[in-house]
Amino acid sequence: MYTSMTFDTDWATQAACRTTDPDSLFVQGAAQNRAKAICVGCTVRTECLADALDNRVEFGVWGGMTERERRALLRRRPNVTSWRHLLQTAQDEYERQRILTGTSERAS
Ligand code: SF4
Repeated sequence: MYTSMTFDTDWATQAACRTTDPDSLFVQGAAQNRAKAICVGCTVRTECLADALDNRVEFGVWGGMTERERRALLRRRPNVTSWRHLLQTAQDEYERQRILTGTSERAS
């Protein structure tokens, strides 16, 4: 079984939106950009996005993507069976490279 160096399985407790009005992520039009701005600095954005994609969450902004953006991504990558595995692997590889090159920003 693959064990991630970085993926947070208890990600919901670290969510940047945990203290915001839940309705603020379920908006339409230009308000979605404000909702996505909440996600920009979220340290568990990748985990959140993986969960939304794997569970085909239909509504709301999750992981910095609107439902429309997630649907487009799912259409572009129909063969992905586990977004969690895909994003975990990519995030871990990013972290390995970051450590090797001495850069300091975490993937999100
Ligand atoms: S990525 Fe956005 S929706 Fe997901 S936990 Fe973070 S702030 Fe909330």
